Amino acid sequence: MMMKKPKEKDSLFSINLIAIEGDGSFPCPQCGMTISPEDETEENYKVIDTTVVNNELTELIIECGKCRTTIKLVGFQQ
Ligand SMILES: [Zn+2]
Repeated sequence: MMMKKPKEKDSLFSINLIAIEGDGSFPCPQCGMTISPEDETEENYKVIDTTVVNNELTELIIECGKCRTTIKLVGFQQ
């Protein structure tokens, strides 16, 4: 595992989208299921919270639809 454990919440994983190539899909850090941001059906993930700065999305908190792990997405391209 390449990311450090956050101190405030032990179940929060962080994914940097800049490091992801292709269509932006990535495996869930917990269960390995492929999560695709292009899929908006909420079957593979559910949006919990969003952070918008200057009308631009900077952070997205999602929940894996399979194992319900909370994942934080950062690094959205402007
Ligand atoms: Zn999962």
